[in-house]
Amino acid sequence: MNIKPEEITSIIKSEIERYEKKIETIDSGTIIQIGDGVARVYGLDECMEGEMLEFPNGIYGMALNLEQDNVGCVLLGSEEGIKEGDIVKRTGKIVEVPVGEALIGRVVNSLGLPIDGKGPIKNNGMRPIEFTAPGVIERQSVKEPLQTGIKAIDSMIPIGKGQRELIIGDRQTGKTAIALDAILNQKGKDVVCIYVAIGQKQSTVAHIVNTLTEMGAMDYTIVVSSTASETAPLQFIAPYAGCSMGEYFMFKGKDVLIIYDDLSKHAVAYRTMSLLLRRPPGREAYPGDVFYIHSRLLERAAKLSKNLGGGSLTALPIIETLAGDITAYIPTNVISITDGQIFLESELFYAGQRPAVNAGISVSRVGGNAQTKAMKQVAGTLRIELAQYRELAAFAQFGSDLDKESKKRLEKGKRLIEILKQDQYKPMPVEKQIMMLYAGVNNHLMDISVAQIRKFEKDFLDYMDTHHREIGKAILEGNTLSDEIKSQLDEAIIEFKKIFA
Ligand code: ATP
Ligand code: MG
Repeated sequence: MNIKPEEITSIIKSEIERYEKKIETIDSGTIIQIGDGVARVYGLDECMEGEMLEFPNGIYGMALNLEQDNVGCVLLGSEEGIKEGDIVKRTGKIVEVPVGEALIGRVVNSLGLPIDGKGPIKNNGMRPIEFTAPGVIERQSVKEPLQTGIKAIDSMIPIGKGQRELIIGDRQTGKTAIALDAILNQKGKDVVCIYVAIGQKQSTVAHIVNTLTEMGAMDYTIVVSSTASETAPLQFIAPYAGCSMGEYFMFKGKDVLIIYDDLSKHAVAYRTMSLLLRRPPGREAYPGDVFYIHSRLLERAAKLSKNLGGGSLTALPIIETLAGDITAYIPTNVISITDGQIFLESELFYAGQRPAVNAGISVSRVGGNAQTKAMKQVAGTLRIELAQYRELAAFAQFGSDLDKESKKRLEKGKRLIEILKQDQYKPMPVEKQIMMLYAGVNNHLMDISVAQIRKFEKDFLDYMDTHHREIGKAILEGNTLSDEIKSQLDEAIIEFKKIFA
């Protein structure tokens, strides 16, 4: 046998080289500093941004700051019992949450673990909480309506499936109420709803879950809750977790409605986290990338193309303003990201105009394409008439003499405003909204006193239900108000007015 010494040495050399490499890629590090829910770990050279790290006691953390000689990470749990010098292991995975049908009807935390005491969840796999938003080719334009059941919104600020519509207003102006009504209205419409509560009081969330359960809405709803008592990182990841749970259904071709209540508190949680990680503060002490945390979240709302199943994810983020200031940092950011905003005003709310939607500065930039033709027909003039009414009403306050035409406008405006009032938890089917608005814009209510309008509405819709069910059906099916339906509707209204009087 012919032994070549060079060959042997080269093998030994390469073995030694590889041996060293193996040592280099050991996937663990040691904690060099820990406190305030933030840890600095030495030795995780290959760590990824957003990677899940395993701490002692089964606690997980998320790597956020990849620095030259250490990794800054936040703990997704209690830091009790974890100390400097402890070993931290890489998991090689981005933070992920369980997804699947079994989550429907459950209340979970930001990590997808059940907190409703109904036992473990049999999930269909996991999804990373951060996911690239669908690109241009993977989408189609928004064209199907997503009815909220709220007259003021469905008529003037329509929302389409796949849209992002901001609900913005001061505290206690009915923001959550609008979102909940929108969820209640999805009953029987094959839309999966997700309500993400960020930084709210535990009692508030419990109340919301109770309401949804009582109204039978938990049958198609997931609640992701990260209350004010939880740490900032958990509050921070809650909306991304909720979004991933929604994406699972969207990519299966289903329609999803997701509510982020609210992103102001989300931004505050992110600020807390960033300051603890010693990232440089910017305007209002928010870190420089606070815009990006919201844009990458809301960009994941989409109406998918036919090839991808045509599913959709509609997002209704909520922002709380201070004294109606929509020009503050976070509100302007989110306004610029979304496809429109529903602006709620305390003044209107206290004046009894509920929902307190300010129709003047609320807009929906894409929802118009999604509105049904019949609704467009009645709502077309509604906005203008209300704008004219507001202008005249300001004049009328001075007690100036108005001509007959203006007086008539004022009277009509008052009635239209009355029609737009709506109680909480009473979403209205779209055909009923159309019939009532039709009566309003076509001057059928001019001889009914303003105080009587709401009673009129209730009785009229009951009457249509019992005596003229076919008209409502025709509006719903035909999608447009033909001359025939219009004359039938006119007749029915006149007929009913005789009884009502
Ligand atoms: P917060 O800033 O505390 O989150 P919010 O803006 O979400 O408040 P809600 O909690 O939705 O406001 O509503 C505030 C109060 O107004 C609640 O008590 C609610 O029941 C009431 N409310 C909301 N909408 C209506 C409505 N359309 N009709 C009557 N009451 C309403
Ligand atoms: Mg609220």
